[in-house]
Amino acid sequence: MTTTTFPIDPGDMPALKRWLAAQESGSENIHSHLHPVEIDEILIGPDVLRQLPGALQRAGIDLGSPLVLVMDETPMLRGRDDLKLLVQSLLNNAGYHVRPLWLAGDHHGLVHADFEQVQRVQAAITPQTALIALGSGTVTDITKHAAYLYDLAHPGQARSVYICCQTANSVTAFSANMAVLLKDGVKRTLPSRYPTAIISDLGVLASAPKAMTLAGLGDCCARFVAYGDWYLASALGMVDLYSEVPLALLDKLDVILLEHAASIAERSYAGEAVVARALLLAGIAQSIVNMSAPISGTEHVTSHVLDMIADHYRRGLALHGAQVGVATITAAQLYQRFLAHWHSLHHPKLASLVCSPHVVHTILAQAGAPLVCQDLQPVITQQEYDFAVQNGHFIRKRFVLGDLLYFLGWNV
Ligand SMILES: [Zn+2]
Repeated sequence: MTTTTFPIDPGDMPALKRWLAAQESGSENIHSHLHPVEIDEILIGPDVLRQLPGALQRAGIDLGSPLVLVMDETPMLRGRDDLKLLVQSLLNNAGYHVRPLWLAGDHHGLVHADFEQVQRVQAAITPQTALIALGSGTVTDITKHAAYLYDLAHPGQARSVYICCQTANSVTAFSANMAVLLKDGVKRTLPSRYPTAIISDLGVLASAPKAMTLAGLGDCCARFVAYGDWYLASALGMVDLYSEVPLALLDKLDVILLEHAASIAERSYAGEAVVARALLLAGIAQSIVNMSAPISGTEHVTSHVLDMIADHYRRGLALHGAQVGVATITAAQLYQRFLAHWHSLHHPKLASLVCSPHVVHTILAQAGAPLVCQDLQPVITQQEYDFAVQNGHFIRKRFVLGDLLYFLGWNV
């Protein structure tokens, strides 16, 4: 059996940069100007955590330097070892001076990616101090944005060193130069920065709760409908930029995820490596066009409204990617209905960009991911979910399918 692979491995950064340069020069589209990927290296493998001190040295952080290690208070394992202790001793034994910075959670124990947390991390940065984010999406977004704001405030200095040590295959944040932060109670995607290096250790990723890997799978499934939204917005003149380079970067994502859904369910290293690569490529896909559109549309605004509903009732939040996966199935169903009735010159193109709900459903079902709102944790009622689907398009300026259906008078 042949195994389908991505067109380029994010673990080979020089090759990825060459590939992107070739895509750009091969395109006649004047709008295809891509933003450079400013990541020095991504390490993906069964035991790459041990290379963390080496990555710091390659980034110019000499042995003996202080390091700020940003973490939340969630206990984490790598196999049977305490991951946070393991990383601290790995760095201390290599000769670095580790300063742990613990981010405190709310009454649910949940850390929020807000500016208060960002400022705490920013205040800990000094010249020659490297920042390491040891966590999943929230810790990553807080740390990366602290490094970004520090760099903005010190224009004369070289860019600070920020290493992303991902502890779960949960979101696309690790490789993205944008951060999702809470501003005035609403989640906003803000310009931020790339990490200097990313450590994607399969031993760590396979030890994270299964729900997190399944959430990551759900988050990258967004590509299957979001690209339709982006194309639609462009066809209707609602957005200036449209490029298919991000699409090419994630080519055959559906085939790859279908092939590996069972091994993702088993938590094998092969399955974790596929989700890691998909998420890392998805983060880069949005960063090169400087907008989240390639992997964020109807399904993401639905998820954001679900977060607002949970917040309103002071409930804990379901995992972002789990909600996105469920909402992707719904958005794919809406596209299927819409395309059955809409015959225009854009029809074939749009049909080629979005996946059938059957494919999305099969990927998520074979991996054991949530499929309907009742599968989410905490449970979301059908009524709340329907409200989010119908009203998600109101919360963001960018045009999505929901806007079109609203103006056409379709009752979704
Ligand atoms: Zn997402």
